[in-house]
Amino acid sequence: MSALAQKIQQVFDEPGCTKNQGKSNEARKKGCSKVLQPGAAAGGCAFDGAKIALQPIADALHLVHGPIACEGNSWDNRGACSSGPRLYRTGCTTDLGELEVIYGGEKKLFRTIKALIERYDPPAIFVYQTCVPAMIGDDVEAVCQAARERFGKPVIPVNAPGFVGSKNLGNKLAAETLLEYVIGTEEPDDISPYDVNIIGEYNLAGEFWQVKPLLEEMGLRVRASISGDGRYHDIARSHRARAAMLVCSKAMINLARKMQERYGIPFFEGSFYGVSDTSAALRSFAELLIAQGADEGLRARTEAIIAREEAAFWREAQFYRERLHGKRVLLVTGGVKSWSVVSALQELGMEIVGTSVKKSTAEDKERIKALMGEEAHMFDELPQRTMYAMLRESRADIMLSGGRSQFVALKAKMPWLDINQERHHPYAGYRGMLNLVREIDKALSNPMWQQVRRPAPWDERVSSTTGRE
Ligand code: SF4
Repeated sequence: MSALAQKIQQVFDEPGCTKNQGKSNEARKKGCSKVLQPGAAAGGCAFDGAKIALQPIADALHLVHGPIACEGNSWDNRGACSSGPRLYRTGCTTDLGELEVIYGGEKKLFRTIKALIERYDPPAIFVYQTCVPAMIGDDVEAVCQAARERFGKPVIPVNAPGFVGSKNLGNKLAAETLLEYVIGTEEPDDISPYDVNIIGEYNLAGEFWQVKPLLEEMGLRVRASISGDGRYHDIARSHRARAAMLVCSKAMINLARKMQERYGIPFFEGSFYGVSDTSAALRSFAELLIAQGADEGLRARTEAIIAREEAAFWREAQFYRERLHGKRVLLVTGGVKSWSVVSALQELGMEIVGTSVKKSTAEDKERIKALMGEEAHMFDELPQRTMYAMLRESRADIMLSGGRSQFVALKAKMPWLDINQERHHPYAGYRGMLNLVREIDKALSNPMWQQVRRPAPWDERVSSTTGRE
């Protein structure tokens, strides 16, 4: 069995993933991907998943070893923000062609790494393997090792070619890469009992910046953000943090669990979506750190911040609470958002008519049941036809989903709001929750809906002449 196949088996065996652990040995070996029906959208490949997970490391250079389309496919399709370096936004690829397919692409890869180091001098280069070089047998690990020795820089192979599996598997292989090549490779000289890691937060639309000031006010220092607005050296030193939060459970659970095992960093799984979830996350950090030796005063500081922020939120949200009360929401997202957004919207008096759980874990589903009751409308699959019918028959007033479903809502002439990775507004933390309700209110009260639902003038003429509706 190849090293990559072994790693994939290990990832499928993840003890932290209850879904995998609930399966038979045979089923576990097959992993989580489902056989697609003809015409179904496959979603991102493993390479795409690995790149999504690592590209937010803002000061590193990300080089895609493959034909140019792989980079074109994955570059800049998510709004992960950086507070400083812009290097992660530079698209780099070896652009393999026919000659390399015949003679191999290793030399071209080495030359490209050399050229990039000379031109940009980055703190590290992540080199992503893709399908074509994996199939022609390019040994990315060996080339990266040669480059490391030659240039004295971290050149890190990310061995997750697209054909090995889904985007989610790619996220986990990216986490394995960090564990193998990055985390623990540098020692910090400024350790404190208040250092924390944030795992699985990508700072989309600058979301994490809504929360980071609160953590700092509590006296915490974010040792490493993995990977939103992340810095290479911070992640290399992240093994000295005292506690961690796992923000998106499915993406990097292997990373959080292994850091706990190897370095004794306890972690909790939480969310920054919604008022009570944000408060719960701040409390969990305080308790974990106190248990690790931080001062007891941290608890009182945290409670004071929570009380102030919650009061400010409700003061401002009152206006929207009255306008949004009783509105019915169809939620088509997944993972942590499938329950955390539910609780956030319920707090504002909205009714959730259904939530998709395709990408949710068993714990996510339990949380939804706790919030919406045993009769909760959870959809494993929500075909676009059903989605359309729900909106057309007015069983929902608005749909919150990713960009791919927007046209279903628009076709049904119903309001829609993007809450997935392409969103432009930050929704995390107390401030983010205000942004979310503001955006829902704007979408619902947009006068455009009255206009588009009115019959077209020529239809009106036809019905008045023929007397037909
Ligand atoms: S499936 Fe393979 S060829 Fe397609 S984008 Fe992913 S890595 Fe590239």
